[in-house]
Amino acid sequence: MRSFNSDLARFSGQQFTRRIVYPMAGVMVVMIAVVIGFLVLSARQQNALEVAASTRLATTALQVKAREVGRNLRDYTIRPDVYENLHDGIDLGWAVTEGNVGANLYTDLGYELVFAVNSKDQTIYSLVEGVPTKVDALSIMPRGLRDLLHVAAIQPDPTTSLIKSGDDVYVVAANGILPPSIDRSTVKASDLTMLVFAKRLDDKFLDRMGHDYLLSDLKISLDDAHGKEASIPLMTQNRVFLGTISWTPPKPGDQLLNYIVPPLGLALVVLAAFAILVVRNARRSTSALEASATHATHLAHHDALTSLPNRVLFRERLDIALSSTVERSHAVSVICLDLDNFKEVNDSLGHGAGDQLLQQLAKRLMGCVNHHDTVARLGGDEFAVIQVGASQPHDAEELSRKLIDCVRSPFVIEDQELHIGVSIGIAVAEPIDGDPERLLKNADIALYRAKQGGRATYRIFEAKMDAELQERRGLEYDLRQAVLKNELELHYQPLINLEKRNVAAVEALVRWRHPLRGLVSPADFIPLAEETGLIVAIGEWVLETACRQALEWGDLRIAVNLSPVQFRNRELVETVRQVLQRTGLEPGRLELEITESVLINDAAAALDILNGLKALDVKIAMDDFGTGYSSLGYLNSFPFDKIKIDKSFIGNLSDKEKSGAIVKSVIGLGQSLNMITTAEGVETLEQAAFLRQQGCDQVQGFYFSKPVPAAELPLFIDRWQVENGEGTSVEAA
Ligand code: C2E
Ligand code: MG
Ligand code: MG
Repeated sequence: MRSFNSDLARFSGQQFTRRIVYPMAGVMVVMIAVVIGFLVLSARQQNALEVAASTRLATTALQVKAREVGRNLRDYTIRPDVYENLHDGIDLGWAVTEGNVGANLYTDLGYELVFAVNSKDQTIYSLVEGVPTKVDALSIMPRGLRDLLHVAAIQPDPTTSLIKSGDDVYVVAANGILPPSIDRSTVKASDLTMLVFAKRLDDKFLDRMGHDYLLSDLKISLDDAHGKEASIPLMTQNRVFLGTISWTPPKPGDQLLNYIVPPLGLALVVLAAFAILVVRNARRSTSALEASATHATHLAHHDALTSLPNRVLFRERLDIALSSTVERSHAVSVICLDLDNFKEVNDSLGHGAGDQLLQQLAKRLMGCVNHHDTVARLGGDEFAVIQVGASQPHDAEELSRKLIDCVRSPFVIEDQELHIGVSIGIAVAEPIDGDPERLLKNADIALYRAKQGGRATYRIFEAKMDAELQERRGLEYDLRQAVLKNELELHYQPLINLEKRNVAAVEALVRWRHPLRGLVSPADFIPLAEETGLIVAIGEWVLETACRQALEWGDLRIAVNLSPVQFRNRELVETVRQVLQRTGLEPGRLELEITESVLINDAAAALDILNGLKALDVKIAMDDFGTGYSSLGYLNSFPFDKIKIDKSFIGNLSDKEKSGAIVKSVIGLGQSLNMITTAEGVETLEQAAFLRQQGCDQVQGFYFSKPVPAAELPLFIDRWQVENGEGTSVEAA
């Protein structure tokens, strides 16, 4: 079967994940990656900036140191006494003992090495850590010092360079000893004695440098800077590599990361948790929506009471069945079912019982059909089956018999056994081009015929049924018009009192003067009026017209027929009361004729209404006695004043064996119950004589008079009087 899910219902969990969860998760991952990437990048950039800044500081620190060494050196080389005592020979007493160029250079200024080198590159004076020591400066610093001395000799200001000695690197400054008093241009550079101060770049130096320039973990190594985060190369003046100074630079970026990452991580976790929660809730709502959409779809396609497919789903399935049988050889039948007298169940036992009956019925119907047939409730007590069968209408007929049988067995509702019948209409689809609408309509027409044909039976649709239905529709329309256009009229048939030989009463019989059909018999339109409910209006019109007419006929009694349909409503009593009041007819002159069917459906309600009518003082007659269920018990239990023996018994009176016996016993029963007996359809003198002989009170029939228009009745009565010599008025017989 086709899926009837709506778009929303089709939006399944998987689609939800694909369309919502994945894109959302993707966007979140990208956002998080961008944020983290940005943080890491900016942290790195900050770290790099800090390395650059600290490198500038370290470079500056070395330059400052070199300038300081130069400045200290210059303070000595310009002194006249230094020139006097260190140039051209050395006065140790002046230098060491007096401390002019002695230990204080180490203890106060921190120079580990001090040399005085003459013009022949001979070390004429040397201090090693403030102690006069005989060493050769050029041997201690074999590389670099000679070049420095030569460069420095031609410069007025001290020249500095980094020079290696053993494994140590020194900041070395050299300057020629020459007081300002001597004009430099007069002195040859090669004649100058050079003074050299050397400061070792040792741990102490690095500590101080670190302290002053906020560089931590300073180290000197003789390798290159490979693998070091921050370093500067140590170069001689001639750009010869000596080693590196390295340090651990501050890492503000890392700090920032350390600072930001934990709360950020936490925020991301919270965000992720929140996202998961949102997704779960959304998913739940989607599932709930999905479920309610599915539920709504189910409701839209199923009947709430019985859970059977409803008319919508029935139509969809019928379309599918019809379209698929175009290719296959199987034929489709639509079987329409309608319960007989369901309304009575509802009215007498209440809607709750009616609902239970429908539920039980739905189960039974489901149990009768094949699994691929569709049973649907089209509304009220209307059900329908789609049957696909190899041999139609044979299969549909077989199923219909089965359905009628299965509904026939009693239903137990609220501890009561209920017997109910079902009428069935069958329509078989045309082999090609089966129109579903038409098919359903045809099955309905066949159903209508089944109902007319006595119920609890089935009919197969035939084309002529449609024509008849059209005819009936036309008639129905005309009948409505008839009420409005006053096309109805009453004829009156006298009831003769056999004993007194007078006209005891007249029965009002309605006629329809149709503009085209002529005078239509009530037998042809009363059933239609009953089905359409028009009988209520017609009945009231008949009652009022008859009562008004009776006023013109002295004290003649008037009999009026009531339909069982009018009896379904308790309003009837009030209607009769109002008509009597309006017309002013004495209630005792009105006789209401009812048939047995009134009593069958709901005896209690009927009794209630009959008692109401009796309370108005009108007479009640049981019409057509013997044709219905003819329970003698009715006669005893209901307040009848008269029994009218049906004409079917009278017509056969010649067959004295049966009908005669029945008529006799009914007359006897009437007498014993103190009721008037009237025989209908008396057509011969013999019948009248037989009835008189049996003690029947009244007769009615063509032998005496056909029903005549109101205007002709006085004529009949006059003639009757003349011929029979009795008065017209009849005392209560
Ligand atoms: P009913 O109440 O049993 O009326 C008697 C019917 O028997 C009348 O038929 C009458 O013409 C017919 N009839 C009388 N004498 C003879 C006879 O000797 N031989 C034969 N063969 N028939 C005879 P009608 O007028 O065609 O009425 C038929 C039925 O229609 C009535 O049967 C009654 O049940 C119903 N009917 C007529 N008028 C009304 C009405 O105003 N309201 C209602 N609810 N039903 C009506
Ligand atoms: Mg009658
Ligand atoms: Mg009758």
